[in-house]
Amino acid sequence: MVALPPVATPPLHLARTAPEHCPVLERDRAEQSQLRRLLPELLELERLMHRGAERMVCRSEAAVAVDDLQLPIYSVALGNPNRECPAILLTGGVHGVERIGTQVILGFLHSLVERLTWDASLTRLLDELYVVMVPIVNPGGMYHNWRANPNGVDLNRNAPVDVDCDVGRSTPLIGGGQRFSRYLPWYRGKAGKEMEVEAQALEKVVLRELTPRPASLVLDLHSGFGFRDRLWFPYAYRRRPISTLAEYMSLKLLWERSYPSQAYQFEPQSQHYLTHGDLWDFLCIEMQYDYKQLFLPLTLELGSWNWVRKRPQQMFSRLGLFHPMVPHRQQRALRDHQLLLHFMLKATSSYSAWLPDSKSRDSLHQAALNLWYQDLL
Ligand SMILES: [Zn+2]
Repeated sequence: MVALPPVATPPLHLARTAPEHCPVLERDRAEQSQLRRLLPELLELERLMHRGAERMVCRSEAAVAVDDLQLPIYSVALGNPNRECPAILLTGGVHGVERIGTQVILGFLHSLVERLTWDASLTRLLDELYVVMVPIVNPGGMYHNWRANPNGVDLNRNAPVDVDCDVGRSTPLIGGGQRFSRYLPWYRGKAGKEMEVEAQALEKVVLRELTPRPASLVLDLHSGFGFRDRLWFPYAYRRRPISTLAEYMSLKLLWERSYPSQAYQFEPQSQHYLTHGDLWDFLCIEMQYDYKQLFLPLTLELGSWNWVRKRPQQMFSRLGLFHPMVPHRQQRALRDHQLLLHFMLKATSSYSAWLPDSKSRDSLHQAALNLWYQDLL
């Protein structure tokens, strides 16, 4: 039998968490089986945290109580935490019913954990890059198969940002965020109250891990809008363009030049509708004005209506509107976005090669206005 070569010892910055320090909760058999039935994604994340413990730092950022269970909101970080390195954050499960986004991130984390045992090129990439993931932002919502968190609050309508009714787009009457009742969808929470614990946990991770850095990118995975897969950039609260429009244009061109056969629709969210309380709007404003940080969040919105078109009966299941219910479609969704996630890591690590300089900035900004903001010109 051919012996496999020994696994290389990871560089120091990749080997900081001993497996016994992995903050995974002890659970009895009944709790394990409850989670296997209602929140298997959490068990898979904990398995990966154990498997990759020598190369990752894992934290429980907060916990949410549901039934008799404590559901942690985990973050995992790998790569070089040095503040001179750029960072990328991958998040999923902000809306509990959109499980596929969490599953795509877990598939990607699985691939990183396994490849770090043999892939020298990945180890070199992580020498220059810091990667953070919060794969299940809303574990209580996912446990219940709800969009909102257990308090009935939609975490992406909960931030203290109101729609600026400037020009062009309208806000959907309820879908843009409402304060009438927690029993209706898209509930923002009470006015003047601090953000929900899950949103606060995400803010804590962003401020702790992504500042100060030469560049910080985010990919937040969702599903539930349209027939196409879309990459949305802020703002959601106003139609007027963001100040980093040239940077987004440059990233779009980089992606499309590198992978011309890919078909994501890259655009500002405000192209479609405006919403109150968007988490990334809030964090963009905070990072830009309070921390002077170059911060480029993107939302990957998987076009789930295609799954419904191919299998109309899943329209009658709450999960079916957001999730590929047929196993081969689920597998395809898990495969289809891995290239984008790898690209995001590489683009973040090579940020200086594509971020606009003073010469190209104006022309990129103008090209972006022509492409996405004709209604404002
Ligand atoms: Zn969503």
